Amino acid sequence: MSPAIAFPAGTILGYPRIGRNRELKKAIEAFWKGNLTELELETTAANLRAANRERLVALGLGREDASIPSNFSFYDHMLDAAVTFGAVPTRFADLRGENGGVSLAGYSTIARGEGAKAPLEMTKWFDSNYHYLVPEIGPETSFALSSTRWIEEFLEAKQEGFVTRPVITGPLTFLYLSKPSDDAPTGFDPIERLDDLVAVYEQLLAAFAEAGARWVQIDEPVLVADIDADRAEVRANAAAVYGRLAALEARPALFVAAPMGSLDDALPVLAGSGVEAIGLDLVRGAVPAGIDLSGVTIAAGVVDGHNIWRTDLDKALAKIDAVKALGADVAASTSTSLFHVPHTLEGEEHLGADLLSWLAFADEKVGEVSTLATALTEGADAVAATLESTRAALAARAAHPGTNRADVRSALDAVSDADVERGDYSDRKAAQAERFHLPQLATTTIGSFPQTTDIRKARAAWAKGELSDEAYEDEMRAEIKRVVDLQEDLGLDVLVHGEAERNDMVQYFAELLDGFAVTKNGWVQSYGSRCTRPSILWGDVSRPAPMTVRWTSYAQSLTSRPMKGMLTGPVTILAWSFVRDDQPLGVTADQVALALRDEITDLEEAGIGIIQVDEPALRELLPLKKADQGAYLDWSVRSFRLATAGAKADTQVHTHLCYSEFGEIIDAIDGLDADVTSIEAARSRMEVLPAIRNHGYERQIGPGVWDIHSPRVPSTQEITELLTLAKESIPGEQLWVNPDCGLKTRGYAETTASLEHLMEATKAVR
Ligand code: GLN
Ligand code: ZN
Repeated sequence: MSPAIAFPAGTILGYPRIGRNRELKKAIEAFWKGNLTELELETTAANLRAANRERLVALGLGREDASIPSNFSFYDHMLDAAVTFGAVPTRFADLRGENGGVSLAGYSTIARGEGAKAPLEMTKWFDSNYHYLVPEIGPETSFALSSTRWIEEFLEAKQEGFVTRPVITGPLTFLYLSKPSDDAPTGFDPIERLDDLVAVYEQLLAAFAEAGARWVQIDEPVLVADIDADRAEVRANAAAVYGRLAALEARPALFVAAPMGSLDDALPVLAGSGVEAIGLDLVRGAVPAGIDLSGVTIAAGVVDGHNIWRTDLDKALAKIDAVKALGADVAASTSTSLFHVPHTLEGEEHLGADLLSWLAFADEKVGEVSTLATALTEGADAVAATLESTRAALAARAAHPGTNRADVRSALDAVSDADVERGDYSDRKAAQAERFHLPQLATTTIGSFPQTTDIRKARAAWAKGELSDEAYEDEMRAEIKRVVDLQEDLGLDVLVHGEAERNDMVQYFAELLDGFAVTKNGWVQSYGSRCTRPSILWGDVSRPAPMTVRWTSYAQSLTSRPMKGMLTGPVTILAWSFVRDDQPLGVTADQVALALRDEITDLEEAGIGIIQVDEPALRELLPLKKADQGAYLDWSVRSFRLATAGAKADTQVHTHLCYSEFGEIIDAIDGLDADVTSIEAARSRMEVLPAIRNHGYERQIGPGVWDIHSPRVPSTQEITELLTLAKESIPGEQLWVNPDCGLKTRGYAETTASLEHLMEATKAVR
């Protein structure tokens, strides 16, 4: 057993990894381009880690008390775990060095793919907008400690006088989120390898102990989610794993963190396993009841790591007291890692004093944790002034006119059930066939075309006032024309305008709708080096003027083929923004839906006959607990229908969803009642289509045939194979041909070549 070492009074489960000015993104992208050496990249990363440690101390965390989490990652924490444990898929075996480890270049290749070797699949991290890489595990995976990077990072900090707390993904989360490798026999489940994997965790913990680590944080968010596995099995595995790790002779104290929800029946299991501390998410989950927690330390996650609102410190302290009453030693913590929120409010003064005073980004949240820690150790009186100013700010937020607008409220009250019904699909289908005369296997794209450096430069110059409105407009129009011409040359059936004028599919609308604010530098990691800048939905939503009509009708004026209008759906606008936490999400979604509904009417009046309302985030907001999913699907589907059901029968409504696993939400997708739904399907090789067929789905579907997440150009033959596979499940007249997603992050060379192949394959299969 390890010696008892006090858990720090305040901590955070993790800190943003990309750097205040996205230093890591820039460095790793330069490394990929060959403009930075491996050593230079390592140096940039080490400097970033050093700066973060100093900042966290300045914000109130302790230098040597293990309160600073060490959760750095070059790309993704699941990939880090995979390469650390030797779980490299066979197709990348040649990347492994003598000790089984991979270089940074090899690590990047596993993440991004190379030639015919597909990268690891990428999917959403629980119900967040972060994407992780899915490890591939089979009977052949030879688990072994294959990287000392985590230990070296601990030692790097130690050399500068810090005792940090290494953060690693737990074995249950790692295996339950993995998928069977290509070599695995059918029916194989990665969790079968649990014992072998835990042996490597044992070695790792011993190595951490030897390096001088006092606490190690093991993240097990999988314990808060309802996954496919039987819950009793999950509990039994948790008991076995943590009993085994706790029984180790020489090890650091163990802190098992369970962000993203409530542990429920897994809490007693962990509490009885012998681990020293448990992290509870008390923002999403309630304070547990009826359990004796004496002898364990609870890191009470009372500061929301997943949203940007200032913490109600009184409520937070009350929760902490309630946990204390269960007999536990209590520390103040965040509910999740802070990598879900931007670095700092510094530099965001343009948001205005009111809004600023309601917000807390990562650094401000660290400050809140320190305040709570002081209250814990010295009593609430020691922080009385902060408590008072927090109360005043929260009261001002509740009383602000923008958070409660009579016009928006009454429009919503007037909505009736008829407003969410579009009428029979068969009538629509006939009206649309008559209007558009599209061939079988109609070809289209998901909306965006490459955002070239020129486009980005023009937008930046325009934002700074260096480019006039007219000059910007001209540049965007020229780009739209280029994109339309290209699609005509390629012979696509339904065209798009390319979204050149959109910085981001949510932010673009956020900037044009009332009730939103946009940050200057509020970046959060989406996947790898990709970051997004979520808008802040703080007030009641309304649409002061049409948002897309000008661009779409210009694009339509350039071609006789149908031009697809392109909107972002209410659920996605919510999911990819930081959303107000002072009313049910469904109410906020319906406010957005009404604004979109008016936009659709305006597009129809401008002659646009096909309108796509993207809902890529529908699934990611799906609650992790089955019991909560029904209610979510009800309001989310209804708000999509509220947005789209005003469309005429001969207007073809498309939707786009960015994933392929929709087993559990297939009814909801059906319920959206879109005429055409495009989904991601290339990496998973159309895996989902048989289920869609068996469900009796009668409308049209466009399974993606080109994985746009990597620069790889798919061959005509590959696409032909995918289309042939698709046709085995879905009749040709219901089938569309499109890429997996928008092309915004791709270059023109790949785009043109891939779309040419897509057209050739379509002709071959037609
Ligand atoms: N229309 C958007 C685009 O093409 C859809 C992107 C998405 O689904 N994430 O960029
Ligand atoms: Zn998509």
